[in-house]
Amino acid sequence: MNYQLFKECIEKAQSIILFSHVNPDGDTLGAMLALQIIIKTNFSKDSQAVVAGKVPDIYHFLPLINDVKKAEDIQGKYNLAIAVDIAAKDRMTTGLGIFESADVRMNIDHHKTNIKYGDINYVNANACSAGEVVFDICEKLGLKIDKNAAKCLYTSILTDTGGFRFENTTADTLKKAAKLIEMGANPSEISRLCYESKPKPMVMLQANSLINAKFDCKDKIAYVRISNADMEKFQAQNDHTEGIVEALRQINTTEVSFVVKEVDNQTTKVSLRSKNTDVSKIASSFGGGGHTFAAGCTINKPLKIAEEKLLEEVKKYL
Ligand code: AMP
Ligand code: MN
Ligand code: MN
Repeated sequence: MNYQLFKECIEKAQSIILFSHVNPDGDTLGAMLALQIIIKTNFSKDSQAVVAGKVPDIYHFLPLINDVKKAEDIQGKYNLAIAVDIAAKDRMTTGLGIFESADVRMNIDHHKTNIKYGDINYVNANACSAGEVVFDICEKLGLKIDKNAAKCLYTSILTDTGGFRFENTTADTLKKAAKLIEMGANPSEISRLCYESKPKPMVMLQANSLINAKFDCKDKIAYVRISNADMEKFQAQNDHTEGIVEALRQINTTEVSFVVKEVDNQTTKVSLRSKNTDVSKIASSFGGGGHTFAAGCTINKPLKIAEEKLLEEVKKYL
C-alpha cells in the first residue's frame, strides 16, 4: 500500500468528505471521526463527515458526532471523498452520488468482500477494523493521534472485535489498543459507554427475540424474525436489533445464527454470524457481503419469504 499517497491526497484536496455506512456501527463512526480529527490536527484542514440514516444513541459520546451531516443534506462537489468501513459502495446509500462525483475517491476498509472500488484503496482484510487501517496509516506516516482521535479509534477496535473476543483479535490488535490507551483513550469508560448504556427498548426487544428464537439442524441453526409490529411493541429503533444475532451465536450448539428484520413489506435486512462457516458466501449469494464469521445482506422479499430462503441456503452449508 502506498501510504505516501494518502498524505499527498489530503495535502492537495481543497474539500474533503468522509462517508460511513448505512446502519452505522462503532467502527464506521469511530474510524470516520478519527480521520476527521487526524486531518484537522495534522493538516489543519476541515472536512465533512457524513452518515446515512440515524446515529445509534449509544455512539453520541464520540467526539464531533454532532457535526456529522445526513447524506441527503449534502450538496456540491468535493475534491476528495473517503469511504470508511464500507464493504460495498451501495452501503453509502443516499451519499453514493456525492462520493462518485468527487475528483478522487478513497476506500479505507477491512472487509474481505471489498472489491477495491476506490481510485485509491487502503483495504486490509487482516485488520480487525477500519479503525485499525486508519491507525496503520497514521503510524506509517508519523501522523499525530490526539486524545479524541484515540478515543474514536479505540471504539472502532473494541466494537468490531466484540470487546476483544472475536477471531480478528490478534497480538497486533491488542498492541495497537494499548498504544491508543497511552494516547489517552479510557478503556473502562469506552466499554461502559458501548456495552452498559443500552436503552430499555433495546434490552426488551432482545429478550423478546431470544424467547421467540427458532432452531433447525439439531440446533446448529438459531434464528429469529423481527417484524415492524415487534419494533412498535417495544418502541424500538432500528439500531436496537444490534447484538441479537451474537446472543443467538452464544448458545453452545449454534453454528450459524441469523436475524431477519422487516424493513418494509417488500424488503428484509439480514444479519448472519457463525463459529466456523463462511457466512460471507451466504450473504454474497443474496447480493450482500461482509466477513467470514459476520456478514449481512438485504433481500427484496417480504419477511417470511426472506426467512425461508435464507434458512434453505444456510442449511446447504451445514
Ligand atoms: P451486520 O449484521 O449488519 O452487523 O453486518 C455484519 C457485517 O457484514 C458487517 O461487517 C457489515 O459491514 C457487513 N454487511 C452487512 N450488510 C452488508 C451488505 N448488504 N453488503 C456488504 N456487506 C454487508
Ligand atoms: Mn461496520
Ligand atoms: Mn468494520
